[in-house]
Formats: sequence, structure tokens, C-alpha cells
Amino acid sequence: MKIGGLQRVSLIDYPGKICAILFTQGCDFRCPYCHNPELVDPDQYLECIPEEEIFSFLEKRRGKLDAVSITGGEPTIQPDLVEFIERIKDINYLVKIDTNGSRPEILEKLINQKLVDYIAMDVKAPLERYRKITKSNVNPDSVKRSIEMIMDSGIEYEFRTTVVKSLLKIDDLQKIGRLIKDARLYVLQKFVPSKSLDKRFLSKTTYSDKHFEILKEELGNYVHRVVVR
Ligand code: SF4
Repeated sequence: MKIGGLQRVSLIDYPGKICAILFTQGCDFRCPYCHNPELVDPDQYLECIPEEEIFSFLEKRRGKLDAVSITGGEPTIQPDLVEFIERIKDINYLVKIDTNGSRPEILEKLINQKLVDYIAMDVKAPLERYRKITKSNVNPDSVKRSIEMIMDSGIEYEFRTTVVKSLLKIDDLQKIGRLIKDARLYVLQKFVPSKSLDKRFLSKTTYSDKHFEILKEELGNYVHRVVVR
């Protein structure tokens, strides 16, 4: 596993749990607003943390941390993700995974083998705009399959969208609402220009708080709960 970063404790990443966060290196998308460019652009990669260091840390924190959250980059492109999570499960941690949904076949393995307890999937755009927004050659059918699989899994989950005003129109967000119809939780993340893969996005904005209130209400017609972060 290529682990580019470790946050030793977080009280907010895994709902209701205290977790450590592992940041995997590498991603198959190139979202211009990505705020982890050092995990996405190979020219910015830092040295990886050895796996044994991670497991030694997790062993020591048993009983103090409830969970391990695996984010990225995109964790599902790591070829040994399944084996890695099996080892985390062997020492009895809950596992949350953040994913862009491009690899439903990996999610399927994780779900079927009961290796994940919480899935947070980014829904970047309406399906027909996916490749453009993520600057990738993702198959939108794979994204759709991931959404359906997560919703049918019985596992706790959330879908979330980073909202950059110039990329997503209100109509796009409504299309996403229809795509994830009946989902338990949808999180709208206000784009905050602090760091971005494409530097030009440092001057981009999001919608006003008032717009988000309206959006929250409208999207509530499609999903059970909408949260704005
Ligand atoms: S936002 Fe997520 S999916 Fe997009 S490039 Fe960054 S890590 Fe990859």
C-alpha cells in the first residue's frame, strides 16, 4: 500500500467514532479543485510511510481509537487494498473508506467480505459530465454501479459532492439528486479555495449560504437527509 500520510486522530471524519486517517497515494481522477494534490500528482509525491509503521501505530492505539478511515487519493486503485484492510480488521478496528466510485469491483469485494463499516463516496457530477469534471476517462456506468451497490449494501454510507459554482449548475445538482434517489445521506461540501490541483481554482467560488439553503431543501425531495458542510 502506498500511504502518503497519516493523521493520528480525528473526531470528525467517521461519524460518531474516533479514528485515525490514512491517506493513500495515487488517484485515477484529476479533479481540478482537488485539495490533496500531493496525493494525486506524481511530481508532488512525498515519501511513503512504511506499512509496518502504520500497523505498529495502530497496535499501540488499540482501545483508544475506534476506527481507521482510509482516504486518498483513491484507495481502490491500490492493488493490495483488500489484504491491507484484512490486517486492520484482524486487530479489530472499524474501517471507513472514502472513494470516487470508479472501481465497483473492488467495492464489491470489500462489501461481500465485510471489510468496511462505512463508505463515503464522492458523486462528482451528473453521469454525462463525469469525464469532463474529473478530467479522466472513467466509465460513468462504473460510477452508477458503485452508487447502486453502496445503497444496496446495508452498510452505513454517505454520498457527497464538492460544489464549485463554475463547474456545477443548480440543474446539475438536481440531476445528482435524481441519480442517488432515496439515499440515506447526501453531503454538499462548499468548495473552499485553500489548495487545489489546478492553481487556477484558487480564485473559484461556491454558492452563497442562501443558495445552499434552497439547494438543501430541493435535494431533500430526492434523498432522506441533506447536510451542508
Ligand atoms: S478530489 Fe478525490 S477523486 Fe478527485 S483528484 Fe482529488 S483525490 Fe482524486
